[in-house]
Amino acid sequence: MTPLIPGAVIGILGGGQLGRLLALAAGQLGFDVHIYCPEENCPAARVAAKATVAAYDDAAALAGFAAQCDVVTYEFENVPAQTVIEIERAGTKVHPGAKALEKSQDRLTEKTFLNEIGIPTVDFAALEDGEGLGAALSGFGSHAILKTRREGYDGKGQIMLGGGRGRDGLAEAQALAKAQPCLLEAFAPFEREISVIVARGADSQGQIQTLIFDPSENTHEGGILKRSMVPANISDAVLEKARAAGAKLAEALDYIGVLGFEFFVMPDGSLLANEFAPRVHNSGHWTPDACLTGQFEQHIRAIAGWPLGPVTRLCDCEMENLLGSDIARIPSDFPADTRLVPYGKTEPRAGRKMAHITRRLPPRSR
Ligand code: AMP
Repeated sequence: MTPLIPGAVIGILGGGQLGRLLALAAGQLGFDVHIYCPEENCPAARVAAKATVAAYDDAAALAGFAAQCDVVTYEFENVPAQTVIEIERAGTKVHPGAKALEKSQDRLTEKTFLNEIGIPTVDFAALEDGEGLGAALSGFGSHAILKTRREGYDGKGQIMLGGGRGRDGLAEAQALAKAQPCLLEAFAPFEREISVIVARGADSQGQIQTLIFDPSENTHEGGILKRSMVPANISDAVLEKARAAGAKLAEALDYIGVLGFEFFVMPDGSLLANEFAPRVHNSGHWTPDACLTGQFEQHIRAIAGWPLGPVTRLCDCEMENLLGSDIARIPSDFPADTRLVPYGKTEPRAGRKMAHITRRLPPRSR
């Protein structure tokens, strides 16, 4: 791929905080950004040179957008794969391509694909209606999580069954499985959760290379990421397994750009993949503060055909998401040793990601 030169236009499908942080990084590298988003006045459009407000299936708007961009990317995984195909048909390259979207949009396709390329996941069973739920649940020792196959994120569309809760969610789960295709996943009694941010793009000779940021250890509240910390409290063997799985996935997807890949670390040191997102990732928000190249700059470099930057980590770091009314702590209760990244959202709805803060710490290890 011929590297883009400063002044070139990068198109981004989606207008949330990830698009905003990508747009800011692109601006610093000298690119103009054109946001395509169905909503008016989205967080990303407010820091971009240009915005198109149109639906993802508006063929004329997509063709117009494609004609104005030198390369296009996306900032969330539920952009229809057909949208990407339309843009490519109009002659503009989309990185990462439709394959990564197709594999990650449906939890069944995603887990099947991971298993096919030799990356273990929790056991799972596809449910076409509520009928098979009882049998599948028994098969998983009566402790499992029902998830919608599509459109679930941040713990949405999930029902925990068994464990401390008994089977009292069963009727609710049956209704959900009847309403739409679902997946039942065995509950993973994990020791901790980690993720890796993987970057695949050119090296200085133009050859494709994969670089992997240090894994972060993540804690969730109500299915939503709350905190990421580096280094993760894991052995070198677990770290290597996570890196190897990240590299294998990026290669299998023929990926260009940055992706986030989440895992459960099991008590015996084995690693089970949970899910991946074909985009910059919330658990990588610490990277601009602690690494020579942050995930947003890295993604822009990759899709622009520039050599990837080094991912060397310079210090330990922690990141905390500010959700909903947490934002009211700002600016009065804003610790002086942190960096604040607000997303420019005006409505602090419960659980909505409003900002994050990062705190650099002196290195402890690795
Ligand atoms: P997900 O949307 O699939 O990433 O799930 C959100 C969070 O729910 C995960 O980060 C875990 O904390 C928890 N979770 C999801 N699936 C499982 C599972 N199969 N076993 C145990 N915990 C899970």
